Amino acid sequence: MRFDILTLFPDSCNAVLSESIIGRARQKGILDIRCHQIRDYTENKQKQVDDYPYGGGMGMVMNAQPIADCFRAVCDELGHRPHLIYLSPQGKTLTQQRARELAELPELCLLCGHYEGVDERVLEAFVDEQISIGDYVLTGGELPAMVVVDCISRMIPGVLSDDVCFTEESHFSSLLEYPQYTRPAVWEGREVPEVLLSGHHKNIETWRREQSLLRTRKHRPDMLENAELTPKEQRWLAEQPLDE
Ligand code: SAM
Repeated sequence: MRFDILTLFPDSCNAVLSESIIGRARQKGILDIRCHQIRDYTENKQKQVDDYPYGGGMGMVMNAQPIADCFRAVCDELGHRPHLIYLSPQGKTLTQQRARELAELPELCLLCGHYEGVDERVLEAFVDEQISIGDYVLTGGELPAMVVVDCISRMIPGVLSDDVCFTEESHFSSLLEYPQYTRPAVWEGREVPEVLLSGHHKNIETWRREQSLLRTRKHRPDMLENAELTPKEQRWLAEQPLDE
């Protein structure tokens, strides 16, 4: 999958997205991530990318022209217009479900705002979707863009060593993941649940599913509404005491 990130800080994005799992997927050619400097598309000598807001008020607003030309350059390179997402605290909050849908696309373009944001007209002209990573405000769209790229990328076949890695994880099926343990079997007097050492795959699977249900009910009961539980699981969960 190809990602084009339009930003004032391409080096920061590139550096973070060159590490670990995403970095290796880029090296293998599974991910093609290109970070574009919006400033390169300015038409003024000072390479200024922002200006005062019409109507007065605090801060600066990013000009439409360099963003539009940067996006047009990406369109020209691709030979068509990619889906363009503007990272914004005003957008719809990112969910695993939306990330799954976006992972089906062949490419995605992400626009990172800065300062007080972006001239509304460029959003009207080009942006297909606005995505927020939560109900709080950051200084720029770079971290949100990296969150989106990371979240989508790990669902692209070949990025993780085994696709089961993400299908069993929290949020994939509207449930939180079961607890995980690794060696040693006893750490500072705390033991790994016996069933995990038993080698009995069916029992381990049942225990994990039950833990997943209990955790979701405890930490995110709202998620249970969308989770698919069998009637037997619903009865079992209703019989379990609520722990504080
Ligand atoms: N003035 C804008 C507002 O009140 O909606 C906020 C601008 S914010 C300081 C600067 C940039 O950071 C935004 O243009 C956006 O790209 C990014 N940003 C900030 N918070 C974000 C969030 N929660 N999710 C996604 N992007 C965010």
